[in-house]
Amino acid sequence: MDDQLIWATDQEGQIRLIAARTTDLVREAQRRHNSWPTATAALGRTMTAALLIGAMQKGDEKITLRILGDGPLGAVVAQSNGQGQVRGYVQNPDLDWPSKSPEKLDVGGAVGSTGHLHVTRDLGLKESYTGSAPLVSGEIAEDLTHYFATSEQTPSAVALGVLVNEDGSVQAAGGYILQLLPGVSEERIEDIEKQIQALGPISHFFASGKDLADLVEPLLPGHEKKVLAVKKPAFYCHCDRERLTVMLKSLGAQELAQMREEQGGAEVVCHFCSERFWFSAEDLTALEREVSGLE
Ligand SMILES: [Zn+2]
Repeated sequence: MDDQLIWATDQEGQIRLIAARTTDLVREAQRRHNSWPTATAALGRTMTAALLIGAMQKGDEKITLRILGDGPLGAVVAQSNGQGQVRGYVQNPDLDWPSKSPEKLDVGGAVGSTGHLHVTRDLGLKESYTGSAPLVSGEIAEDLTHYFATSEQTPSAVALGVLVNEDGSVQAAGGYILQLLPGVSEERIEDIEKQIQALGPISHFFASGKDLADLVEPLLPGHEKKVLAVKKPAFYCHCDRERLTVMLKSLGAQELAQMREEQGGAEVVCHFCSERFWFSAEDLTALEREVSGLE
């Protein structure tokens, strides 16, 4: 089953649901960062959340979700765009963190429950807007629910899950954000709450081979839904040699010369995808000349 993203609303547009199966893209993130289970779960949840928030935007806005807790995992960061492309990293991917139980990785403990989450919307033309909220538990879904309620005044149900195998590989991943706009009846809200309870943990839902349709149907039942978009999400990083060249040049001629003399070149590793780029002594000499010419 391929990764998939779906955006649907009820007939009146008062309930919106964005859901995604992200198993393959979280697998790729785990492989690229060589992350340990708890780090994989935190990264996978954050990437899934960024993907869902990104898909809710109009046009070509870029979303950056940063989870900055006081736990040993360090920062967890993910970026996505309206096309369903997402990338992400965790500061300490090789953290060996004990589980609370064999069934449950302790993401909250690794992330930390003190800190903030930030959602930055990049509107293009160098304009951006950041909304923030304090962390509640470090479990990420709960923190986002709190963020939507306080920072965006939108009551939401957020579920994010990554099931990691004993060997550290990813068995299943996915999640959803369900938002209630003004006008939804109490009765309807109670019904949705019951359906959410019945769905159970979202990682197990996807691990059992169920489809997005099995998620959309109970939450937006029968004929009352409108499917607005279906996409195939993917891990995608926009880094390339050209961008890293700009970054290197910003270090200045002196720093470049030092790297050339001491290391015979420079290896630049992309945070987001762990791709390595090697700049030889000759490359650095050329950059030094360019920088000096500009200075
Ligand atoms: Zn990259």
